[in-house]
Amino acid sequence: MSSHPVSLKSLHTQLMQRQVSSVELATEALKQAETQSHLNAFTDIAEELTLAQARAADARIAQGDTGALLGIPMAHKDIFVTRGWKSTAGSKMLANYISPFDAAVVEKMSAAGLVCVGKLNCDEFAMGSSNENSAFGPVKNPWDLLAVPGGSSGGSAAAVAAGIVPLATGTDTGGSIRQPAALCGITGIKPTYGRVSRYGMIAYASSLDQGGPMAGSAEDCALALTAMAGFDTRDSTSLDKPAENFERLLGTPRTGATESQPLKGLRVGLPDEFFASGVEQDVLDAVQLAIKTLEALGAVAVPVSLPRTALSIPAYYVIAPAEASSNLSRFDGVRYGHRASGYKDLADMYEKTRSEGFGAEVKRRILVGAYVLSRGYYDAYYLQAQRVRRLIAQDFQAAFAQCDVIAGPVCPSVAWNLGEKTSDPIKMYLADIFTLGASLAGLPGMSVPVGFGQAGRPVGLQLIGNYFAEAELLQTADHFQRATQWHLQRPSAANHSTSGKGALA
Ligand code: GLN
Repeated sequence: MSSHPVSLKSLHTQLMQRQVSSVELATEALKQAETQSHLNAFTDIAEELTLAQARAADARIAQGDTGALLGIPMAHKDIFVTRGWKSTAGSKMLANYISPFDAAVVEKMSAAGLVCVGKLNCDEFAMGSSNENSAFGPVKNPWDLLAVPGGSSGGSAAAVAAGIVPLATGTDTGGSIRQPAALCGITGIKPTYGRVSRYGMIAYASSLDQGGPMAGSAEDCALALTAMAGFDTRDSTSLDKPAENFERLLGTPRTGATESQPLKGLRVGLPDEFFASGVEQDVLDAVQLAIKTLEALGAVAVPVSLPRTALSIPAYYVIAPAEASSNLSRFDGVRYGHRASGYKDLADMYEKTRSEGFGAEVKRRILVGAYVLSRGYYDAYYLQAQRVRRLIAQDFQAAFAQCDVIAGPVCPSVAWNLGEKTSDPIKMYLADIFTLGASLAGLPGMSVPVGFGQAGRPVGLQLIGNYFAEAELLQTADHFQRATQWHLQRPSAANHSTSGKGALA
């Protein structure tokens, strides 16, 4: 393990005190992206654009602008559309696509003065749990180049873990922020559904998709989420709530708690189903140790039950493909991206374009989705899955009657080896068992690094809060991180690079 990652706050201080310029930070991040190109974390880099943004940030700093994120480098998951950089969604279908507009998240983060270093690799249309479904090849886990980084936001997690950028965006439909964060030993938060605008986020399953930050700590995630979130009239499911400062509770003890026991009175619900057989011992050990730490900080563990946890897999893998089959119908060779070169007529053009443009997993999901929505099967599959979804959401509310936050593993195992699950999609889907519930219910969830398991690969603790409880979740995770060092660990240079330590390490 190498030196500690640098926090956004300390980068801010360095920028404000003119110890470093935004151009210098951006140049170093670009250099690291190049040096660590074997991770395959990026899908597009456009140095001139990055440096132009950095120069603009330096100019704002020179004029006295003190924005908390101004001048700091970051990168976007290649699901957010960007003017300038390609927006591929990890698909051959959009391999050369350049958007005429920026996603709402990109707009907001640019307005805050963050400097985009490039676009980050991901599973095709965010469908996957290992980043192996990208048309541009898998991302490697910086902790162990034989391991997957998790997915679908694998490029985001790897780039942050490797110290290339201190912050990245991710999207989470069924776990794609939390699970890669866990597998790469970084912190990530998926906010309540509707907090972050989906405008310009290439759609996978619209009733589930939610953007969020992935970074080195809960504090960094809080800063970034404050810049990302907010009502947007261009997204019909955006929550019409006033802007929130997600840092507001950081460092302060919970109401009625003390400095030495800042989490006093916090009821941490431990769902039986999250600790049942099927979870690997190394993951259980690290998660249980983390719960002991929360207890030492004053929290009280309470047993709860989420009885339909196992059903979240079939429900999700009916609903998400159903929505995907509809969302992906727009890729027809006419409006965006790839078009087959030779074809007889319109139907042939559609068929060839889609056969060539989509990868195997995307095709599988389009087929499943079209099937479950078809006449005669709709009631048996889609409607039934929607009913189960409702029950899962009710189970969470019953649990929240007994606790303030739910804790458990993010993933049943540490990162697996590249290629290990690619021939068995069901095995891959089963790895999502603990993240799907919060997505189906629309609840906020986090991943917090809590140690290492087999082969020295990271383990994440999942914290799920009730609707709109992001600030409390971040406060809890932040107190945990003030008391522990796990989030400060980074892969040793030898694992991920031959050139020494990462830019921000
Ligand atoms: N692994 C899940 C899937 O393949 C979740 C992906 C995501 O959250 N985007 O659908």
